[in-house]
Amino acid sequence: MKTPFVTLEQVEELVKEYPTPFHLYDEKGIRENARKLKEAFSWNKGFREYFAVKATPNPFLLKILQEEGCGTDCSSMTELMMSEALGFQNKDIMFSSNVTPEEEYVKAKELGAFINLDDFTHIEFLERTCGIPETIFCRYNPGGFFKLGTDIMDNPGDAKYGFTKEQLIEGFKILKSKGVKNFGIHSFLASNTVTNEYYPMLAKVLFELAVEVKEKTGADIKYINLSGGVGIPYKPDQEGNDIMEIGIGVKKAFEEILVPNGMGDVSIFTELGRFMLAPYGCLVTKVIHQKHIYKEYIGVDACAVNLMRPAIYGAYHHISVLGKEDAACDFKYDVTGSLCENNDKFAIDRMLPKINIGDYLVIHDTGAHGFAMGYNYNGKLKSAEVLLKEDGSAQLIRRKETPEDYFATFDFCDILKDVKY
Ligand SMILES: *Cc1c(COP(=O)(O)O)cnc(C)c1O
Repeated sequence: MKTPFVTLEQVEELVKEYPTPFHLYDEKGIRENARKLKEAFSWNKGFREYFAVKATPNPFLLKILQEEGCGTDCSSMTELMMSEALGFQNKDIMFSSNVTPEEEYVKAKELGAFINLDDFTHIEFLERTCGIPETIFCRYNPGGFFKLGTDIMDNPGDAKYGFTKEQLIEGFKILKSKGVKNFGIHSFLASNTVTNEYYPMLAKVLFELAVEVKEKTGADIKYINLSGGVGIPYKPDQEGNDIMEIGIGVKKAFEEILVPNGMGDVSIFTELGRFMLAPYGCLVTKVIHQKHIYKEYIGVDACAVNLMRPAIYGAYHHISVLGKEDAACDFKYDVTGSLCENNDKFAIDRMLPKINIGDYLVIHDTGAHGFAMGYNYNGKLKSAEVLLKEDGSAQLIRRKETPEDYFATFDFCDILKDVKY
């Protein structure tokens, strides 16, 4: 059973000021969850979460996470710029990018961010571009399949990221000879995992690697970055991760592998995106049409531009009809947006209560990789983002796009000077 964090009465108030569709975020949920994560890893002195900015690049939400002690994980110029503007600096910023342009390395180094190299050849590239800093991370890719028991979780051998083990060992030797004093190891092996085993398994792989690399290179490994990948239960019958259990699992691996090898002072970092925010955001949309042809369609005022995951991955997002939370789900609908693309469907053959035009739908778990993946296909404009604060009041944290915004990139020429707004 999934219940929205907002009621029909609240939405009826909100829409007076913010017309649908909009993304709504729950400050209370965000803060409680961030505190739980911190507690789960409180056994590790240097623990820190670096929120993956790409998941939800909103300065107001980053500010909340900053107040909860998080840093930012950036992988582009604008993410670095946003972090800088919010007062994240030096070790508050992790720069985990790939196929990195020169100017982004320059910016990251200027900010004093931790730089996480994605490839062996980037050692030379970074040196030429802006010089090698004293502290550096390298991203590891073990290749093959990443298995949990007999289940394959993901296929790193097919992923574009990271160094092979041989490259990582060679790379650490070279970096050491170039004056690097502090090393970090990073790896991201599976996405949206809903098992308490993922982080502990990954930790074991990385801790064993760290011991081996230290033996072979003499590098002083100070940080292990478990990156993102802890998922959330998008479906109502899925059981969520227990972050306390996950913390205990990583601690066990830490005590079994790092401590006996004299590496008990290693700091653990995470770069979670989805786990930090996805459940604490939802897309609120209104039913504007109903269509009966070979199937029953519910047409809403949001579309894939506001939430792309169902259209591109067939991802499940739970839907609640506000005010009908307890009604029987005995109608089968496709819930669709207005794009001229047949994959613009938030749900296909979904059992829901009987829906009427004017009903408000809550599309759950859009707090990460939701608004952020938006685009402007069909000339559709991006929605507003609204924060439901702890005291129950609402704050606009991003206005909706306007036609002026849409046409702004032609403002240097007069071809569209006669557009009427
Ligand atoms: C996307 C990404 C993350 C966050 O992933 P989630 O699945 O949202 O936890 C973390 N680190 C890197 C390098 C990423 O690319």
